[in-house]
Amino acid sequence: MREIINQLRETLHDQDYKDKESPNALLLFTFRNWNMNRGVAWVELDDVPENMGVRLNVIRKAVAKEIGYTPVFYPLGLQLIVSGKGLSLAGLDPQDYVAKINNQTAMIQSLFLIDTESYSFAAGRSWGQTVTSKLQDAIEETLLRELGKRSDASSKSQLCTRCGDRMNSARWVCEACVNKVDAAQDEVRNSPKKRILTLLIVLTIVVLFALIVLRASSI
Ligand SMILES: [Zn+2]
Repeated sequence: MREIINQLRETLHDQDYKDKESPNALLLFTFRNWNMNRGVAWVELDDVPENMGVRLNVIRKAVAKEIGYTPVFYPLGLQLIVSGKGLSLAGLDPQDYVAKINNQTAMIQSLFLIDTESYSFAAGRSWGQTVTSKLQDAIEETLLRELGKRSDASSKSQLCTRCGDRMNSARWVCEACVNKVDAAQDEVRNSPKKRILTLLIVLTIVVLFALIVLRASSI
């Protein structure tokens, strides 16, 4: 795992993320500018937790504290990488643990679960994170490449944890299932309701602008 951690460190340096010493995490990176506050942490588990949600909440709070998150300022977007032995066999889907809404706190924007025994992983992302998707893509590509090099024959012919199809990759979830989630999220993003709302906002701005111009020219 040491080599994979080093590869990921390089990936994050390329994305202008800064190293931070951490007693709890194998890797801790932060990025902050005028409108963005992001963190990446890799935490190793000693066991497969009985309740992953509870454990992730503890990790989320500890990491946020280390990054120096204060709720008064802008929200913190966390990308968590959690590794442990046998995680792929525990029936976990990272998509279940990412933030569903932007609640303006320290939230898990993406979660990467790595099984250190089979060298396989699964990823979950909050939707609508256009700004962070480049970072999430970079993390995912690095894991896919580095874990893929090390996956043994057994994990390369494992079954997708969502549809049960046999697949040939370092993931637990097959490409088709990952794309299905992406398509569903796109549908939410481009729903008619949302489009009408956008249209109304644009229309209001145009009308307001027209009124201002009319008033100005009548003086
Ligand atoms: Zn599948």
